Amino acid sequence: MKLLLSDETQLLYLDGIEGSYIKETDVRVLGYEAGGYILDKSIMHYHGGGQPGDRGKIVSGDISVPIYDVKKHGRKVIHKSLVELDIKDGKLMVEWERRYKIMKMHTLQHAISSVLFDEGFMTVNSEVIPEYGIIETDKTVKYIPARGYRINEANLPLKRYYIKREELDPNLLRRCNLEKLPKSIERVSIVEIDGLDICACAGTHVRNTSEIGKYWLRNFENKVEFGLF
Ligand SMILES: [Zn+2]
Repeated sequence: MKLLLSDETQLLYLDGIEGSYIKETDVRVLGYEAGGYILDKSIMHYHGGGQPGDRGKIVSGDISVPIYDVKKHGRKVIHKSLVELDIKDGKLMVEWERRYKIMKMHTLQHAISSVLFDEGFMTVNSEVIPEYGIIETDKTVKYIPARGYRINEANLPLKRYYIKREELDPNLLRRCNLEKLPKSIERVSIVEIDGLDICACAGTHVRNTSEIGKYWLRNFENKVEFGLF
């Protein structure tokens, strides 16, 4: 199955959970527009779904082209770079240390949102960067349940699979607003944390919640903040 969310660029990080762990890949450069490179495939996540765009570089021969962000422009995935060169191919490398932190933070967000949902708090928005994450809920979060602090110790494996849009069960994806999914998506990427959460998501995640390591949480008003130690 081709993993496409754009017309041209195959997104390898959407290939199961393991796709999130691909650190480099050979690419063909299809063009430069809107301040960045369009590639035939990518391992870099573009900004969206509460997750920032990745950073990295394209290495072509002796040349190293820095990529400072990845954004979606219409149906095109743009690997943003101020360096415009006429390169045809190269090796795309993601800035792994930063990306791995984002994977931990984003997985933590899934887990916390699910724990909050069980207590009656619906996540209406979320955003993470490597250093900080925030979840906004539909009402004031007066407390965070104890299991919200033990997600890393629970050792819960994750998996990603695809379901045809018309076969989605809204009861299964209870905390996800399926109306937010772009109409163009026919096969929906489902990310499941074993025994805890099932959600439609096109982001990057860790294999097991034990990888998250130590983290902190804080609730105030209708928000929960979190971060890694
Ligand atoms: Zn996700």
